[in-house]
Parts: sequence; structure tokens; C-alpha cells
Amino acid sequence: MKIQKIEKCKIYHFKSGILPPFQLDIYFYIVDGLMIDAGSNNIMRKATKLLRNERIDAVAITHIHEDHTGLAWWLQNEKNVTIYIHKNSIEEASHDSNIPFYRKLVWGNRKGFRAFPIPAQLQTEYYSFDVIEAPGHHNDHIVLYEKSNGWLFTGDLFVSTKQRVAFVDENINTTIQTLQQLLVLDFEIIFCSHSGQQQKGKEKLKRKLDYFLSIQQQVQILKQKGLTTQEIDKILFPQPNLWTVVSCGEWSTLNIIKTIE
Ligand SMILES: [Zn+2]
Repeated sequence: MKIQKIEKCKIYHFKSGILPPFQLDIYFYIVDGLMIDAGSNNIMRKATKLLRNERIDAVAITHIHEDHTGLAWWLQNEKNVTIYIHKNSIEEASHDSNIPFYRKLVWGNRKGFRAFPIPAQLQTEYYSFDVIEAPGHHNDHIVLYEKSNGWLFTGDLFVSTKQRVAFVDENINTTIQTLQQLLVLDFEIIFCSHSGQQQKGKEKLKRKLDYFLSIQQQVQILKQKGLTTQEIDKILFPQPNLWTVVSCGEWSTLNIIKTIE
């Protein structure tokens, strides 16, 4: 557990999960009273101890996954704050989550909460955030852009430059389009929910785009030769992946290939 500060942005870092390898890094941010993402249920005890006396005016959630919404119920009930999420996720947010066992070990189920549609812009005393649709990792994923500081809060859009497996919700074709659109913006630092704050953020997002474009090119060539999705997967990703086994295929390289055209 670690807290860092850049200007008025507080960076919270936790390990979520019972034991390694079911323990992963998780970050959320509080920028001048605006909390960006709401962690997982498994960090509840540690996180709420720190947040109890923190000023939180509102919460903006990048997407509905349980590692971004875990503390939302507590924030609503204990801190009485408004929680914003993409309008298409409001219904799902109102119910408790029901996730597979391996995700319970890492993140934990979250309780249902009442969310409001995130507006196109969010304002704090010192900062102004443009809310930008950024589908790919999830169809109703948003990012927050603070133009005057060159900050981009990317939720799960970045995570790493070389993404080895994709979640069942992801669409890599859409991610490619989103990355191309975001790279037109002027920013330098990205704030990721699993790898923290990153300098040279634009360069790193560009590297991620280039990585997916090179996979896309290889997939297109192999498809033209008449290979099936499964055959292409075996050629491009010959190594078995632990998370694919553990997640019964919810995370896989095949999910990358399937959604690339
Ligand atoms: Zn996610």
C-alpha cells in the first residue's frame, strides 16, 4: 500500500487478492476531490481506513469491471458522494456483481450502487476533465483528459505495451481505433489503473497501438492463406498462458485474434 502525490493528484496503490499469483496491482486517484475509479472489494478494509478522512466530492468510474467499482457502495453510503459511470452501465451497477471464483480471489464481488450518467465534462476547483468515450477493453469504457496538465486517466486501456491476453469483453479492433483517436490529443502522463502513473504516456500508448497493428497485419496475412482463428492463435502465441487455464478462457490470446479483422 502506497500513496504518492503529484500537484493535487493523490495516487493510491494497493495489492488486491489473497495470495500471489492471485494478487495484482491496483491504483486509483483522487484529484482535487474527484476520485477516479474505485478499486476492488478485496482492498476495502485497507482503503476505507485511508479514505475515511479524505475529501471526496465525486467519483468518476472508467468502466463497470469489479476492480474499478469495488468501493463504490461504501463511498456512496459512508461518504455520500455522487458516482458517475457510462450511462449504459448504470443498470448493471445497481446489482451486486456475480463473478467467477478466480476473480473473487483477486478482486472480490462488489455490492450494487446507484450511479449517474457521466457528463461530457467534470470540473473541480483547479482542474477540468473531458470525458472521452474509449471503447475496446470494455464497450462502455471512458477516459478522462485533463488538457492543461497533459494528463490522461486511462482506466484499463493501457495496462502494458504488449498485452499477452485479452478479456472476453474486449474488442481489439475497437481498441486500435480508440488508441488512434486518443493519440491525436496532447498529453504526456497517463494514469493507469494497474500500472500507475506513467511518464511518456503518449509514447507508451503509441507502442501499444503499434504492437496491435503488427498483430493485425499478421492475422490478415494468415487469414488470407485460409487459416482458422485457432490455427492463427497457435502460430502467433505458441506458449500456453496460466491465466487462460485459471480463467477457463475468460482471458486468452484467442480473444485477441477473434476480435482482430
Ligand atoms: Zn477492466
